[in-house]
Amino acid sequence: MMQQYQRIKEQHKDHILFFRLGDFYEMFFDDAILASKELELVLTGRDCGQEERAPMCGVPFHSCEAYIARLVKKGYKVAICEQMEDPSLAKGLVQRDVIRVITPGTVIENSMLNEARNNYICVIFMQQNRAGAAFSDISTGEINLIELKEEDIVTAVVSEIGRFSPSEVLLNEFAGTQKPLGTFLKNRTECMVDVLNVDYFGQPRCESDILSHFKQPSLSQLNLQDKPFAVSALGALLRYLSEMQKNGLERLITLNLYGENQYMNLDITARQNLELTETMRTKDKKGTLLWVLDQTKTAMGKRLIRSYIEQPLLNPATISKRLNAVEELYNNNILLGDVRDMLGGIYDLERIMTRIVYGSATARELKSLSYTAQSLPTLKQRLDGVNSRLLQEIHDQIDTLEDIRELIETAITDDPPATAKDGGVIKAGFSKEVDEYREIITNSKAYIAEIELKEKERTGIKSLKIGYNKVFGYYLEVSRSYAGQVPEEYIRKQTLSNGERYITEELKTLEAKVLGASERIIALEAQLFSEIKSKIAGELARIQYTARAIARLDVFASFATVSQAMGYVRPDVDLSGEIILEDSRHPVVELILNEKSSAGGLFVANSVHLDMDKNRIAVITGPNMAGKSTYMRQVALVVLMAQIGCFVPAKSAKIGIVDSIFTRVGASDDLSTGQSTFMVEMNEVAHILKNATAKSLIILDEIGRGTSTYDGMSIARAVIEHIADKRRLGAKTLFATHYHELTELEDTVDGVLNYNIAVKKRGDDITFLRRIVRGGADDSYGIEVSKLAGIPETVITRAKEILKSIENGDTVHVKKSLRKEVDNDEAAFMQTSLVSKANDEILEKLKQIDLNTLTPIEALNTLYTIKGML
Ligand code: ADP
Repeated sequence: MMQQYQRIKEQHKDHILFFRLGDFYEMFFDDAILASKELELVLTGRDCGQEERAPMCGVPFHSCEAYIARLVKKGYKVAICEQMEDPSLAKGLVQRDVIRVITPGTVIENSMLNEARNNYICVIFMQQNRAGAAFSDISTGEINLIELKEEDIVTAVVSEIGRFSPSEVLLNEFAGTQKPLGTFLKNRTECMVDVLNVDYFGQPRCESDILSHFKQPSLSQLNLQDKPFAVSALGALLRYLSEMQKNGLERLITLNLYGENQYMNLDITARQNLELTETMRTKDKKGTLLWVLDQTKTAMGKRLIRSYIEQPLLNPATISKRLNAVEELYNNNILLGDVRDMLGGIYDLERIMTRIVYGSATARELKSLSYTAQSLPTLKQRLDGVNSRLLQEIHDQIDTLEDIRELIETAITDDPPATAKDGGVIKAGFSKEVDEYREIITNSKAYIAEIELKEKERTGIKSLKIGYNKVFGYYLEVSRSYAGQVPEEYIRKQTLSNGERYITEELKTLEAKVLGASERIIALEAQLFSEIKSKIAGELARIQYTARAIARLDVFASFATVSQAMGYVRPDVDLSGEIILEDSRHPVVELILNEKSSAGGLFVANSVHLDMDKNRIAVITGPNMAGKSTYMRQVALVVLMAQIGCFVPAKSAKIGIVDSIFTRVGASDDLSTGQSTFMVEMNEVAHILKNATAKSLIILDEIGRGTSTYDGMSIARAVIEHIADKRRLGAKTLFATHYHELTELEDTVDGVLNYNIAVKKRGDDITFLRRIVRGGADDSYGIEVSKLAGIPETVITRAKEILKSIENGDTVHVKKSLRKEVDNDEAAFMQTSLVSKANDEILEKLKQIDLNTLTPIEALNTLYTIKGML
């Protein structure tokens, strides 16, 4: 057996080999040492024909999933080696083989997947300025494929990877040597990266693998005839998957060949900055656009809404189709309510189907398929007579799956066990043979009771009883006090402290019959169960269509629900290039403010006017914290929401499609690559200027900050001039800046208009009005904002002094006064530390207060004391 092990391990050097031995998966040698450490398992040893015992550790087969999940999460690949024949029937050594290698991108187990997101594996084939990229989620059976041709191919590929966030990426050697790609992937810690050898990508073989997989005579049926890079990526993907999984590949039936002109181009920076599906800092869903829009009821809907948000559309007609569906639900409350109620009872058809095809589905999963099928006829009926094209399509695509429900209902017991290993899965009446065996087993129980009674009477031994254990099988137990009454034909088997156990011929015969029947029934049930699964697997396409239709319905219902709740409107989507929003809001900030105050309405709505002509670039000034970033992101998010087919937070919205959204926001210091903030910022700006088109929407927040004022301002100004120039770019742009000098551009550069966010100043204090108005801000109120932020009064006063001197052009005075300050440094230091001590005491005092017992008078007194401490 150890030789067999070595032979198999030889082919799986890079994998941790789970070697099935009876009820355990065992690991040996280095695998065992590593796994025992990673999984905290006891390391034992086993004779292996060598001098030293082989290190060994193992996990029970029925709980292996959790262990495998942990290893895969830590970046290991796990090869599962099974017994390929029944050990009791095997002649000599049991045949064993690896049936699956589990990697992050090839898991299909529920416990290793997040139901709310797809799990993609990706293959990139890149050369010079071209690439093919294939993204597949084997747990839902889809493959997305693109062929790219770009001057900056690495950036284009990174963008695509950002769209899908795969958990495993396989590269050809050329792609593997591209540094920026390597750095990008290294920063995605959840993603396993490998380089595949050149053989995987060879054209003829890739082509034939693809054709045989999709059962097509030529590439043109798949629209791949002139896409050699996509063919290589897809071919390599299929081959890799077939090596990882011995079966189940037929699950991959949906091939979505998408083009560069189908989806909005959103680079990875924009995705992160706009916080579409995870927040920048905490990587949470809460606080993202997805969080606002996701009111889906099914796992399939949850995954689809995420991918809609990741892939906004470009074609107004396709977008309008979605909007029509959302509008119909929006306008028909009863329909919307009913549909959502029904969706509530629908299980994850896509992933259940995957496990059915792979043969690993449990009886309970089949049951959930049949419960789902139960609600399909009513759902379909409820959609009878809908008007919008997409809802009609959904209606037509929902297959009520009556035959499948019937099969499961008649074949599987009502409350099946979690695993099929002890039988009890096949329902009575489904198989005559199973019923017969069951009868033998049931009858024999009655028969045993009969024997017990009969023997008791015959021998007069009152304490006689029949029991069962694994070693002796059925036995008669007699307590010691009756030892004398035991008949001769009883054969003694075991002596206990207070009695004896015997067997009889009659008992032996019965036992053989019962055990034979139990064994056979288990084998038979397993066989029937797997036949049922294959039968359902044969209906994959119908079920898959139904699943997709339900997912779409769920997403549209979710859009409609959120749109109603939040008062969104249907946007007018066209190719005009204009973005005209009346009273628009930021979907996320609005919801967060609403959560804080039940009254709602705290968000101040603002209008937007951008077009291809006079209103191309909005230069936005205003103090920090006024709401500039919020306003700019809000425009981007509203546009994006419209392009995924959702209503938008505004009173009215006319949205000309944008081909991409670019953002340059805040300081995303990339310390891991050793780049300075300024360098990162300039890299991002360079990328935008190179990749944006006249149809793009650009958001630039405070560029030029990371260098000296004059440098920064010059760069900022030159960037605006470049973007504004229609011959060079002419993209719609929102540009927030603290350089007031840039407001001069309104008069000199065509298409530039000034805006500012209004604030009200009273004395030293300012109030943010959050309203965007035409014109440049008159002041940046930096000092007032610092005061709001809690900078000590002494610093504020000093800052004012300095500002005044600078404004007077009185530089000499500034320097002199600074020198004077040096002498006072110590005193100032003393003062600061005194202040901080007082602060500490006050804090302490506040901490001591128990609000539950404090009376109003005591509160006043405490306040009085605190005031005294200042
Ligand atoms: P800036 O970019 O000008 O520094 P931000 O856009 O970051 O300012 O806004 C600061 C805070 O003001 C936000 O966190 C948000 O809570 C609040 N805010 C911004 N815009 C609005 C608005 N229109 N209505 C209500 N609150 C807003």
